[in-house]
Amino acid sequence: MSYAPEAETLEICRDLIRLDTTNFGDDSGPGERKAAEYVAAALAEVGIESELVESEPGRTSLVARWGNQDSPKSGLLIHGHLDVVPARASDWQVDPFAAEIVDGYLFGRGAVDMKDFDAMLLSVVRARQRAGAIPDRPITLVFTADEEAGGLLGAHWIVDHRPDLLEGCTEAIGEVGGFSTEIGGQRLYLIESGEKGIAWMRLRARGTAGHGSMVNHDNAITHLAHALITLGEHEWPAEPGPSMQLLLAKVRELTGADGTPDELIEHFGSAVRAIGAGIRNSTNPTMVDAGYKHNVVPGEAVAYVDGRYLPGHADAFHDTVRDIVGEGIEVEPFITDTALEFAFEGDLVDAMTVALHSQDPEAHIAPFLMFGGTDAKGWSRLGITSYGFTPLRLPADLDFTALFHGIDERVPVDALEFGSKVFDEFLNLI
Ligand SMILES: [Zn+2]
Repeated sequence: MSYAPEAETLEICRDLIRLDTTNFGDDSGPGERKAAEYVAAALAEVGIESELVESEPGRTSLVARWGNQDSPKSGLLIHGHLDVVPARASDWQVDPFAAEIVDGYLFGRGAVDMKDFDAMLLSVVRARQRAGAIPDRPITLVFTADEEAGGLLGAHWIVDHRPDLLEGCTEAIGEVGGFSTEIGGQRLYLIESGEKGIAWMRLRARGTAGHGSMVNHDNAITHLAHALITLGEHEWPAEPGPSMQLLLAKVRELTGADGTPDELIEHFGSAVRAIGAGIRNSTNPTMVDAGYKHNVVPGEAVAYVDGRYLPGHADAFHDTVRDIVGEGIEVEPFITDTALEFAFEGDLVDAMTVALHSQDPEAHIAPFLMFGGTDAKGWSRLGITSYGFTPLRLPADLDFTALFHGIDERVPVDALEFGSKVFDEFLNLI
């Protein structure tokens, strides 16, 4: 059999999608153990040993050493998560866990987030291992649990309890990046070079409880509603940092257009909601909880807000939130995690760039600041520099970013092959 790093990607991806690893954010899901065992078997079959670690029963991550462990080079961490967000089957065209192929697309929960890359990685590693084409750098392969709930039972757990597993790693490659968009009729690949910080908050308003029929100027729900409207409608200013400045410069270059950051971001079309989130802080109310009877004013009302801030903006963000909601509202941090930004330069960035060009000579490449958070936040606590590089060449009309956690999540079959070839070339260059 000739060397074909992409040969097994599709089948492995289908296998992984069929192993339901839904993460509901609590312990009610099936866990990641079956998927971790699948990965362990796939690695063992080509002679790579791995270690399974569990934060809680069934919440399983896998770590394997690969590459030249005797090399003087620093270690490279390559990681993917095994869990997926829930999918409501009735919303989908197809069963979200059947891994059906329709019109050249592989459908399924995890098809882009991120069993696609898990499969590429496994296929490429297995092909190289069989061919003896083992990279001349110490590599640590990590497949994590619980990324979709913030990684407390996955990446963060490993960092807290088993940092020895990542010893020597200085750089990491994972999601979300390396996918193509179309700008000015040209393909632009976006590599993640940072992530916004997470500031999920609980807002609490208090007031005077009483009969719903009586005069009440101190109604907790009314107080909370005011705060949510001002916070939800607040226009956070555009403040692009280093990564997004480079991206905006690339948009100018490819379109010949100039304008404000917001005007330039509009060139991303339907992806503007995702990419545009990289130039400003944001505060979206997502849940409210108050009251227990139609004719009773409750003494307290609570709301949850998904806040995200740009790197370097944490303090100013929190000060502004307090100013916006006003004195009477308590703002409690609920879930928080750090913002990241890494320089878009150096050998690893060069390797990603050259690898993309090897399969798409017309590729344009730029960094971006990712709207969400990934396991990179966990690794950063060990001082590890991370980039999102899960290469996919996509059709121009596909709103790829909407597929993350979306209905009918799907990946073009040929993009899986493309990504595997790019990733294989990347391993020649690291
Ligand atoms: Zn993901």
